[in-house]
Amino acid sequence: MPIDATAPYDDSNIFAKILRGEIPNKTVYEDEFALAFHDINPQAPVHVLVIPKGRYVSWDDFTRDAPDGELAGFIRAVGHVARELGLPAPGYRLLANIGQHGHQEVPHLHVHLFGGRQMGMMLPR
Ligand code: AMP
Repeated sequence: MPIDATAPYDDSNIFAKILRGEIPNKTVYEDEFALAFHDINPQAPVHVLVIPKGRYVSWDDFTRDAPDGELAGFIRAVGHVARELGLPAPGYRLLANIGQHGHQEVPHLHVHLFGGRQMGMMLPR
């Protein structure tokens, strides 16, 4: 079920549990601002999620409420992870689902990095 991206942050969400070390993940990268790990249900040869360490539901509250340092730190981490995975040269897709129409399922901001194959059209027709 897609979530309401305008709802308050819920500390019981699965990515909050990953950040607290309560459930395992396959970490790709971690720094002060971000954690990157393999998606549990990959939809491409490379499918990595990058999440901020702060308590943000989606791109909406993140871009409204996060201090500049957290914004910059997270965005730089996303680029760093893509480079570490060798994605810029062949190309890749960076995706953020937001709320109901975006079909966001986990209510902690995350971006998807998809790579390793031709991604095709941006959206199904
Ligand atoms: P979204 O629809 O953008 O909210 O995507 C949520 C993503 O989180 C999906 O691609 C899921 O496969 C992924 N996911 C859910 N639980 C886990 C988990 N425990 N570890 C890694 N990825 C997960």
